[in-house]
Amino acid sequence: MMKRLLIASRNEGKIIEIRELFSELDYHVLSLNDLNLKHTVLEDQPDFSGNSLKKSREISKLTGEIVLADDSGLEVDALGGKPGVLSARFAGENATDEENNKKLLFLMKDLPPERRTARFRCVLTMYWPDDTYLQTEGICPGRIGYTPAGKGGFGYDPIFILCGYNKTMAELTMEEKNKVSHRALALKALTENLRLIEK
Ligand code: IMP
Repeated sequence: MMKRLLIASRNEGKIIEIRELFSELDYHVLSLNDLNLKHTVLEDQPDFSGNSLKKSREISKLTGEIVLADDSGLEVDALGGKPGVLSARFAGENATDEENNKKLLFLMKDLPPERRTARFRCVLTMYWPDDTYLQTEGICPGRIGYTPAGKGGFGYDPIFILCGYNKTMAELTMEEKNKVSHRALALKALTENLRLIEK
């Protein structure tokens, strides 16, 4: 019988990406939208790993399903790893992507190129009702530009220049981004690990 996998997200972009990567595995992929589950998990842990684990565990306990949760964000070296787990609300609780980018560019305005290194990080947790879990991480290195460029993606993509490219993440096509992104790398590691443990 095909196993069910519940994605602890309402973000359709992420759900599509995860469905695609899980298509070769024996899982029927569902999302919170399919179950009409309104529960929101408080993301109050100090790192991506803690938030990702908390989300997957809480939703698995509520539903009895095998759950996949992610947590991701941007880390800037010159800011000691900030915005980190605060990436979505860097400029305030309901900040827009544009406001977050503006705040970051302002804080970094006097920094030379060599001090603008950064990375996107994503931690995925797959949690089983028997309280075992598998966690993987994906990292996408780059640097912060001086002005936004490009219309694709979301979040910090317009100001994040990918390592090895002379382009921001927002200047890549969705297909290109999905080959190199932190989320895609973490997902690839997860599906490879799943094949190995045959769970
Ligand atoms: P979450 O994992 O959806 O909670 O993402 C947290 C925040 O990190 C987002 O709101 C974005 O600001 C940032 N972020 C995560 N992944 C990306 C990405 O692929 N591009 C740009 N920003 C991202």
